[in-house]
Amino acid sequence: MTSSRLDASVYGSRLARAAKAAGAADLAGLLITPGADLQYLLGSRANSFERLTCLVVPAHGEPAVVLPRLELAGLKPSAAGELGLDVHPWVDGVDPYELVASLLTTPAPTAVSDAMPALHALPLAVACGAPQVLASSVLQALRMRKDAAELDALRRAGAAIDRVHARMGEWLRPGRTEAQVGADIATAIVAEGHTAAEFIIVGSGPHGADPHHEVSERVINRGDVVVVDIGGPVQPGYFSDSTRTYCMGEPPTDVAAQFAVLQRAQQAGVDAVRPGATAAQIDAACRDVLAAEGLADAFVHRTGHGIGLSVHEEPYIVGGNGMELVEGMAFSIEPGIYFPGSWGARIEDIVLVTADGCEPVNVRPHELTVLPG
Ligand code: ZN
Ligand code: ZN
Ligand code: ZN
Repeated sequence: MTSSRLDASVYGSRLARAAKAAGAADLAGLLITPGADLQYLLGSRANSFERLTCLVVPAHGEPAVVLPRLELAGLKPSAAGELGLDVHPWVDGVDPYELVASLLTTPAPTAVSDAMPALHALPLAVACGAPQVLASSVLQALRMRKDAAELDALRRAGAAIDRVHARMGEWLRPGRTEAQVGADIATAIVAEGHTAAEFIIVGSGPHGADPHHEVSERVINRGDVVVVDIGGPVQPGYFSDSTRTYCMGEPPTDVAAQFAVLQRAQQAGVDAVRPGATAAQIDAACRDVLAAEGLADAFVHRTGHGIGLSVHEEPYIVGGNGMELVEGMAFSIEPGIYFPGSWGARIEDIVLVTADGCEPVNVRPHELTVLPG
């Protein structure tokens, strides 16, 4: 049984590091509303509402939680209690933004959660009387380097989604709609160890050429190439994300040949990962293989994205990103080839950067998997 959060001491040290980083950036502190940052810093899965819930992490001083009194119970599973954080419940009629400002040595710039609703960000800016910056400017460096427990969670997530792909032949058949297949996949994602199914792409035939297609009422045909990109969180909140491409019967020669190039491109990306390599170099490693075979224009998106408590986070594996990889980073390598109106394919693994290379957490065969057509 894995619990919904890590040991309280982990959050204690993350809060201390976040406060120190905020001080180093000359900020008054961090203002964190529900979401991945709050999960990272406090192990809290609190939801965002029109009433403000906010973790205040002063650069100098003790962290505190401001929240509606009626949400107090929701704070229980977090590490706030064990860490002895100051909790400031507020009731309707009180101005929670002034309450937050009173906990900081403002006016000085504060860093706010990237996904904080404007509903809260704007009044907080007024109450604090100072400019705001994004919390990612402080937290990204911390969140990008996963610790042992986080890496373990990402491995469990990878194994869980691999088990779902291993069962694809149970559901993916000509005559069924993408939506029907997607519903079965959703059930399996949970059955194989995730707490929820976060996203499901079943892109059959021409829909495979749309990288962010979800599912539709399209009936899968004999001969279709089908892109299946799926994932969800495992405890304590870390995501899986893996794509495999299937063919309903033996593929035509040209499809098989182009897919083989894609497979070489994806492998070249994986092979290029090591500490010191840049994100842009990984992107180029994939792209160069495709370009050499005349497929440069078919690869229409970046090679990958970091993953953790968010499905998409730093580091982004994209041209122009000179960020150097370091041990503990986790990201996807997911080149694709897309032929609008016809078909598409993608191969996606999550990899962990190790001391001297990388460890893929997804190990299902990368070939175009032929299912009975
Ligand atoms: Zn995407
Ligand atoms: Zn994906
Ligand atoms: Zn992805």
